[in-house]
Amino acid sequence: MNVLVINAGSSSLKYQLVNVETQQVLAKGICERVGSAEAFHKHGIDDNEVVIDAKMADHTDAMALVLESLTSGPTKAIDSLDEIDAVGHRIVQGGKYFDRSVLIDDDVIAKIDELAELAPLHNKAALMGINACLAELPGKPMVAVFDTSFFHTMPPKAYMYPLPYELYEKYGIRKYGAHGTSHRYIAERAAAFLDEPLADLKLITCHLGNGCSMSAIDHGVAVDTSMGLTPLDGLMMGTRCGAVDPAIVPFIMEHEGLTTQEVNDLMNKQSGLLGISGISNDLRSVRDASEAGNERAQLAYDMYSNSVKKYIGQYIAVMGGVDAIVLTAGVGENCEKMRRMIFAGLQPLGIVLDLEKNKARGFEREISADSSQVRIVVIPTNEELMIARDTFYIIQERQTAEAAGVDIHTEML
Ligand code: ADP
Repeated sequence: MNVLVINAGSSSLKYQLVNVETQQVLAKGICERVGSAEAFHKHGIDDNEVVIDAKMADHTDAMALVLESLTSGPTKAIDSLDEIDAVGHRIVQGGKYFDRSVLIDDDVIAKIDELAELAPLHNKAALMGINACLAELPGKPMVAVFDTSFFHTMPPKAYMYPLPYELYEKYGIRKYGAHGTSHRYIAERAAAFLDEPLADLKLITCHLGNGCSMSAIDHGVAVDTSMGLTPLDGLMMGTRCGAVDPAIVPFIMEHEGLTTQEVNDLMNKQSGLLGISGISNDLRSVRDASEAGNERAQLAYDMYSNSVKKYIGQYIAVMGGVDAIVLTAGVGENCEKMRRMIFAGLQPLGIVLDLEKNKARGFEREISADSSQVRIVVIPTNEELMIARDTFYIIQERQTAEAAGVDIHTEML
């Protein structure tokens, strides 16, 4: 089955065409700056990438271009749209409604729209992606895969904020988490790599990219995660501050004369590695500057590793131990120095990094020392494959249910 995986942002549309049975990526690309005069379309895999300037007034135009490039010209990957069996959409906020991926229908669309209040940029963008597919691929089955659904298993003591309870009742203010598809994927792969059932393991999973989050997965069940009501909470990130004293928000609004939108931008786009270093949100640039003697870059680097270290401690306490720590995304997969700093000094907790193994490059690999009681593994994430797989299983479920005369929507929601 070929699944077109769509990840729509407010001005971008990322896609991958995945053959689920072979796990092969048949094509991938991104339309960027959709709706602006500088819009362009990148299509291709690795060295075969081409960049095409193209006019795209909206996501439907972008989708039409994507489908055209999949089926014609030098970028052609399939003969016709009939070779796309289904579409899987990444949706950031599934709120209280979705504890798993679901087949998209009018009711699901209405709920994603309703939840846009909790993730305005993300859910509205996802809806643009869904509408573009409805226009360009009418009748094609579509599945919604939510970043939040993996964390539905968290107990109330983990997801509630100590605010007046009425705010939870009135607005649904609680921790939902994010990056769930990535945490679910790396947890499953780590268990397979360690050759242990996921249900027997206590895992701490760390998604360290531009956005960063960690979660505690106790015997296969997510019991806590660092992102909160929104993806701003938790760890220090590329441009996001993560958790700060909430009293800072009214303080800077008052003293800097900022509106809610401006303070939101400050915490989401001007903070984290960028805010502290004043150089970049990219860890490589911050590392290079710190090695050249820039003190603020050094501080940013230290704060980033300390932020991860503190969550490791928290989650060991939450689960009463840990069997393995799993690292993924740009920093987790690639940055030898950051991994060294994160694990420095954790020997008393039974966590010992092997400095030589830590230098090695490669696919899924273990980087803990033989003497380490806790295993440390690096697992490259693959959210698109997870979305394609969920789509595959749900379409199969639907076919089986239809054959048996069961109403799939009531069954799944
Ligand atoms: P996103 O959250 O945007 O998907 P990525 O997972 O691509 O982000 O991670 C981006 C981060 O990974 C950047 O901070 C970048 O500097 C870092 N990174 C990527 N490759 C390396 C590398 N070889 N060494 C150190 N850091 C790296």
